[in-house]
Amino acid sequence: MKKIIVIGGGPAGMMAAGIAAGRGHETLLLEKNDRLGKKLAITGKGRCNLTNASDPEELMANTPGHPEFLYSAFYTFGSDHLMAFFEQLGVPLQIERGKRVFPQSGRAGDIVAALEMFLRRSRVKIKLNTPAEAIRQSSGRVDAVKIQSGAWESADGVVLATGGLSYPSTGSTGDGHRFARALGHQVTDLLPSLVPLRTAEKWPAELQGLSLKNTAVTLIRKENQKQKILYQDFGELLFTHFGVSGPVVLSASRFVTGSDASRPVLSMDLKPALSEKELDLRVLRDFAQYQNKNFAHSLGDLLPKKMIPVMVRLSDIPPDKKVHDVTKEERGRFVRLLKNLELTILGNMGFQEAVITQGGVAVHEADPSAMRSKRIPNLFFAGEILDVDALTGGFNLQIAFSTGFLAGTHC
Ligand SMILES: Cc1cc2nc3c(=O)[nH]c(=O)nc-3n(C[C@H](O)[C@H](O)[C@H](O)COP(=O)(O)OP(=O)(O)OC[C@H]3O[C@@H](n4cnc5c(N)ncnc54)[C@H](O)[C@@H]3O)c2cc1C
Repeated sequence: MKKIIVIGGGPAGMMAAGIAAGRGHETLLLEKNDRLGKKLAITGKGRCNLTNASDPEELMANTPGHPEFLYSAFYTFGSDHLMAFFEQLGVPLQIERGKRVFPQSGRAGDIVAALEMFLRRSRVKIKLNTPAEAIRQSSGRVDAVKIQSGAWESADGVVLATGGLSYPSTGSTGDGHRFARALGHQVTDLLPSLVPLRTAEKWPAELQGLSLKNTAVTLIRKENQKQKILYQDFGELLFTHFGVSGPVVLSASRFVTGSDASRPVLSMDLKPALSEKELDLRVLRDFAQYQNKNFAHSLGDLLPKKMIPVMVRLSDIPPDKKVHDVTKEERGRFVRLLKNLELTILGNMGFQEAVITQGGVAVHEADPSAMRSKRIPNLFFAGEILDVDALTGGFNLQIAFSTGFLAGTHC
C-alpha cells in the first residue's frame, strides 16, 4: 500500500483520490477551502452540466486545446462511463439540448454530494482548510507535501489537481502552476477562456439581459482586406452591459486571444433558419400587414420588443417612416442587418469571469495514458491545471473526471 496525496478537491482531485483509495492506497486529499467542489457547485448555473453524451471522437472535436493528449483519457473513462458512475452513486441524469448532461434534480450540489459519498466509501482521508504550500523532491522523486501549519506530509505519489486561474474566489489561484514550475515543468501562457466579450459598440448595454436562443454567430478576423473565419456556431447569446455573453459567445471567445489587437468582428445572424431571400419575403409579408404603420411599429412579429429601437436605429430607416414608403433598397439593408449584425470585439472580461483557463502544464511533459509527469515518475496531473481546454457543453468537466480517473488509476 502506498501513500498518495492529492492536492485540490475539485472534480479532478476528488475522482483521482477516490480511484486511488479504491485501489487500496492510503489516500489523503488536501483542499484549501472549507468544503470540497466549490467551483463544481456553481457549474452550469448551479445545475452542473457534468458531461456531454458524446463518443470520445466528439469529445475531442469539442476540445480545441490539445485534444490528442486526451485520447486515452476519453477512451478509458468517457462520458458513458461517467454517466454510469454517477447513476451508480444514486444520481439520476438527464440529457438535454446539444447532448448536455445534467442531474435530473437540477442541483449541482447532488454531484458534489455523490462525490463526497464516493470518497467516504473509498476511505479517502480529507483535510479541508489545508492549502498545500510546497512539494519536496528528493532523488528525482517527490516525497512530501508541506501544508500550511508548516508540517510535511510524506507521500509515495502526488497528484496535482489545483485547477486553473479562472473564478479565483473558488480556490483556483494558480498554486499548482507554481508547484509544477518549481519541479521543473513548463507551464504555457495562461489565458482566460470561455469568457464574456467586451464590444466597441455601446448598444448591447441597451439590450442588457436579453437572451436570443437561436443565433448563428461567426467570429471573423479582418486583416489586409482578407477575412479569416475563427469560429462559427449556433446557439444562445446574451447581451450584457459591456457586450455579449451566453454559451455560443463563450465558445467563440476561445478563439479571441487576450492580445488580439486586430479586433475581430462577431457577426450575428438573427434569423439563421431563413435564407436572405426567404427573410426578405417574410419581411415583405409583415410590411403588407402593417403597411399604414410607422416602420418602428411594424417589427413586433419579427424581433423581441427590446431590440426594435436598436435595430431601427442601426438600419438608418427613420422610425416614423410609413411602412408603405420604405424603399426596396432600405428593406434590403434591413434584411442584411438581420442576417449580419456586427459587433467589434475589444477583448474579454478576464479571469474573474472566465469559465476556464487556456494553457497550463505543458502536455508534452506528461504521459497521456497515465497523466504521469515525464520528469518525475511519481508526480501526476489532473484537470484544468493541464494545458487542455474545451468548449461549452460539459466537455471541461469530462476532461477533469477523465484525467482524474487516469491519475488515480496510475498513481
Ligand atoms: C461559473 C462556472 C461554470 C462552469 N460550468 C461548467 C459546466 O456546466 N460544465 C463544464 O463542463 N464545466 C464548467 N465549468 C468549468 C469547470 O468547473 C472546470 O473545468 C472544473 O471545475 C475543473 O476541475 P478541476 O478539478 O481541475 O479544478 P477546480 O474545480 O478549480 O478545483 C481545484 C481545487 O483545488 C483547490 N486548490 C487550489 N490550490 C490548492 C492548494 N494549494 N492546496 C489545496 N487545495 C488547493 C481549489 O480550492 C479547488 O477546490 C464552469 C466553470 C465556472 C467558473
